[in-house]
Amino acid sequence: MADRDPDCIFCKIVAGELPSLVVEEDERTVAFLDVNPATPGHTVVVPRVHTRDLLTIGAEDLAACAATAQRVAARATERLEASGINLLNNRGSHAWQTVFHFHLHVIPRFADDPLRL
Ligand code: 5GP
Ligand code: ZN
Repeated sequence: MADRDPDCIFCKIVAGELPSLVVEEDERTVAFLDVNPATPGHTVVVPRVHTRDLLTIGAEDLAACAATAQRVAARATERLEASGINLLNNRGSHAWQTVFHFHLHVIPRFADDPLRL
């Protein structure tokens, strides 16, 4: 399979063809702020290589995404003073996946924030 999908919005963000606010990156992953945040600092972590979802991503990219998500979570805890974190993946449209390039949501949580997952 090709490393990128020309129609994929997250591939365009990874390539720098669409603007985003990148908070962490390494050779396998990019983490950027969600355009429609559930809470302040809501970040999505993606592999650089295009892959559809939890069932198609390779083990090394999955591990790399998890490690980046951990760094994002630590950053939100320190810099935003988040008192909790939700780490989430939606796989499939019935589970609310809307962008079909694998991603982990890192959602900082705050005392009394209104979010109900
Ligand atoms: P899903 O519903 O697939 O689990 O999550 C997709 C996420 O990507 C949503 O939270 C949505 O707000 C975010 N998103 C969709 N398009 C863009 C975009 O162009 N830029 C950014 N930064 N986030 C996006
Ligand atoms: Zn993609």
